[in-house]
Amino acid sequence: MPMDEMSVWDVVVVGGGAAGIAAAASLLKRNPSLSMAIVEPSDRHYYQPAWTLVGGGCFNPAETCRSTASLIPFNAKWIRNRVTRFLPQHNLVALDNGQHLSYRSLVVAPGLELDWGAIAGLQETLGKNGVTSNYRYDLAPYTWECVQSLKKGRALFTQPAMPIKCAGAPQKAMYLSCHHWEKQGHLGDIDVQFHNTGGVLFGVSEFVPPLMEYVKRYGANLNFTSTLIAVDGPAKTATFRDTAEDGSTRERTESFDMLHVVPPQRAPAFIRDSELANEGGWVAVDEASLQHPHYTNVFSLGDACGASNAKTAAAVRKQAPVVAENLLAHLDNRPMTARYTGYGACPLTVEQGKVVLAEFGYGGKLQPSFPLNPAVARTSMWWLKRYAMPRIYFSMMLKGHEWLAKPEKL
Ligand code: FAD
Repeated sequence: MPMDEMSVWDVVVVGGGAAGIAAAASLLKRNPSLSMAIVEPSDRHYYQPAWTLVGGGCFNPAETCRSTASLIPFNAKWIRNRVTRFLPQHNLVALDNGQHLSYRSLVVAPGLELDWGAIAGLQETLGKNGVTSNYRYDLAPYTWECVQSLKKGRALFTQPAMPIKCAGAPQKAMYLSCHHWEKQGHLGDIDVQFHNTGGVLFGVSEFVPPLMEYVKRYGANLNFTSTLIAVDGPAKTATFRDTAEDGSTRERTESFDMLHVVPPQRAPAFIRDSELANEGGWVAVDEASLQHPHYTNVFSLGDACGASNAKTAAAVRKQAPVVAENLLAHLDNRPMTARYTGYGACPLTVEQGKVVLAEFGYGGKLQPSFPLNPAVARTSMWWLKRYAMPRIYFSMMLKGHEWLAKPEKL
């Protein structure tokens, strides 16, 4: 294992989140003797998919957090630092302590950046005045507090422009909140509005009808091409920019009692500004092999990856074995054989106890794992989401046990 700055690691992994740890585990399972460094600044690792459940009062927040140390594979070296720059023509990454790491191959998986600052006045009021978001560990419990304390008034839920991680999460927050208010008998006294920068409720049309049934049942008002641009916490007002079909815009301000915000999202700056980025700022990859088109010893997966799949942990479960097989083939000068078909999944929590499990690949092609009509809300899928998925994540995906994730052939 290389210890000094000038040594060369077989693999350097950037990011120790879902994607970095899953890829590292899948690589080391195939070749335990690889020398591998995982660069990850945080000593905490989060299972983010459960934050929706935390916001709906159905999951203990502490159970979504584990120490990074407990998840780093025993035969990899954790470098507790942050990558600041890529020098792919020299096979180097720069760290924020001034050091460099040299590699034979690189896995880029630092996730994405939540751009809270893009909405004027938001940062100052997050976590108070009824302004919340399930997109942060410390705020998801506040969502549940807001939901429980609201008995009448107006609740706003927002969704920014795509791509975002878990595109269904903004509306999942709304459904679980509405279900609680319905059970408490308060729903009729609450004006529920969903404001989406996009023009549709869900990007894969097969899932829109079952979701619309819940929108109607809860009496939620849908506002498309409506973008949150400013929040005044103390005054409890939110300003939206509405875009008409002819491209003209107008601003309108709504008062609220509760505001659930999903912020705009983008690739981290050190990716956007690097030679690895595509025109959108994400890591450029071949959609099938997940290999960088120019720097062939560079692979990417997870939210930072520029493939056009839905950015989800479910996608990572299928991407990690593809990256592992293709990266090892590249290191050994063998032809790459593994193909990623764009699988991603979004378990839409339409009520407490029922989920519509949307599973699809590139181009919105349905890829159901079970022989059941996927466009139906099911109790079984709630159990999968609530009880099985956290275990599959921590005990299988992050350990290199590739359940239902055998890659297709290139
Ligand atoms: P992350 O898991 O975010 O990890 C990125 C890591 O990179 C972090 O540990 C970070 O510290 C590290 N890092 C950042 N910058 C650097 C740097 N400069 N150098 C080194 N390391 C760095 N997915 C589903 O499949 N199903 C769901 O139901 C679902 N629901 C969701 C609900 C919410 C509210 C949220 C927020 C997400 C949800 N997701 C869901 C999405 C899922 O959590 C992400 O797609 C997944 O975590 C992506 O993994 P990642 O490793 O790319 O990013």
